[in-house]
Amino acid sequence: MPTLAPEKKTARPANRGHRPAPELCFGDLWEYDPSPETADPKLKPRYELFIGGKFVAPASGKYFDSINPANEQKIAELALGGAADVDAAYAAAQHAFETVWGKMPGKERGKYLFRIARLLQDRAREFAVAETMDNGKPIRETRDFDVPMAAAHFFYHGGWADKLDYVAPGRRLAPLGVVGQVIPWNFPLLMLAWKIAPALAAGNCVVIKPATNTPITAVKLAEIFQDAGLPPGVVNVITGSGSTGGLMMAHPTAAKIAFTGSTEVGKVIMRSVADTDKKMTMELGGKAANIVFDDAPLDQAVEGIVNGIFFNQGQVCCAGSRLLVHESVARTIVAKLKNRLRVLRVGDPLDKNTDLGAIVSRAQLDSIQAYLDIGVKEGAEMWQPPFRRPAKGFFMPPTIFTGVTQSHRIAREEIFGPVLSILTFRTVDEAIEKANNTAYGLSAGVWTDKGSRILKMSTELKAGVVWANTFNKFDPTSPFGGYKESGFGREGGRQGLLDYAKLV
Ligand code: NAD
Repeated sequence: MPTLAPEKKTARPANRGHRPAPELCFGDLWEYDPSPETADPKLKPRYELFIGGKFVAPASGKYFDSINPANEQKIAELALGGAADVDAAYAAAQHAFETVWGKMPGKERGKYLFRIARLLQDRAREFAVAETMDNGKPIRETRDFDVPMAAAHFFYHGGWADKLDYVAPGRRLAPLGVVGQVIPWNFPLLMLAWKIAPALAAGNCVVIKPATNTPITAVKLAEIFQDAGLPPGVVNVITGSGSTGGLMMAHPTAAKIAFTGSTEVGKVIMRSVADTDKKMTMELGGKAANIVFDDAPLDQAVEGIVNGIFFNQGQVCCAGSRLLVHESVARTIVAKLKNRLRVLRVGDPLDKNTDLGAIVSRAQLDSIQAYLDIGVKEGAEMWQPPFRRPAKGFFMPPTIFTGVTQSHRIAREEIFGPVLSILTFRTVDEAIEKANNTAYGLSAGVWTDKGSRILKMSTELKAGVVWANTFNKFDPTSPFGGYKESGFGREGGRQGLLDYAKLV
């Protein structure tokens, strides 16, 4: 008879707090076996602007620091792009469009995209570490999600470059010209790929600005553009502040602008270009409902709830930040959720065992904390697992609020942090009504055993993406975008290409 092998000691044995817990770790629940990622991020002390295929100093001679949010140390300094630099970048892009890229056969353009994807794969670990250092998200996420998904977007759109005639059958797609793009800090590299890959595949040239907090992977990606031999000016990277972004969005050369960021800034940009004929796509904020019915596989749902709101410390536009749970299973779900949160590790983002890394900046941490205070003041009940805040770095434990009503600000406003507001419902119609009772409409999740209910919910929920029995699943083939104040236009899939072209 086969005998059972002795149980192996895993990196995370249950409840055996032998060694003192490290500074950043929850409670003393786990024996701690730090496992830091050691790949060299190959950072330079200073990064310049990338204009016309070259790294050039900003006209103003000014630089700003990028800070590692996990230890508050400076990572590198970056050029502060101003009006003259933005002009130079658009001129380079327009020239590249007219002389090279706009005329190049799709098959040839596709080769560059494939090359970029492969070079990114070759340097995947380096990029993962750099992204984690700049943004604070766990290395497990940058290594297994952000970097491979960014490469996947270049591969996917490389495949489309010579098949544009099939995007809209019976019509031909023509490029728009130069597109200006501004992106946020929550998925710095992935947002670059989401923006640049479809624009290039459709034959456009690009001027792009990464977020001020997280510019590193953008300038590193520019190194890859050079290595890939991308013709000068096809992509230009301008680092800088919000006002640099304002200059970029309003620039007369931009035939199209694509913005991902907060609804507030999106509205400012829309007003600034209201009297132009620029094509526009806006990917803005969200306040997604994650809806758990009483017939759902509850343990699976709990994992989906955790992933939905604590992935990337909840700094996700489509985060499942409002949990709507059927009242008959609410107590069970909350109890299971608390057990699960007690064993999530908040800590060094470079440690491969970390579940929640650092919040991107002190300003963002303060903003999340302000929402916790608001939630308590409004009468909701806050719960956090035991947590010791380290002396340095911007950390926030996973937080849940029960006793939340629809009028509470924590149920209405985008917190953009690891904070879950829990509400209950009795009927399917009540769940739909509560889920749709928001100014946003980016995503939603449904957990149930009934296929018919999934179909009903996905038809009636006013959200760009509805996930069923899963959450935060992304794929380059799948269009992503919002309704209402979550924006307009789609990124990814065939629909995303249509937003970077005109039909002729
Ligand atoms: P933000 O709006 O503050 O900044 C986004 C970008 O805009 C940054 O690069 C910033 O420097 C720039 N910017 C700031 N002021 C500007 C101005 N006046 N004109 C032009 N550009 C300006 O957003 P953030 O804090 O970086 O990111 C968080 C927000 O982004 C959240 O609201 C989140 O929901 C949203 N987001 C949406 C999606 C989506 O696909 N819908 C994806 C990721 C993030």
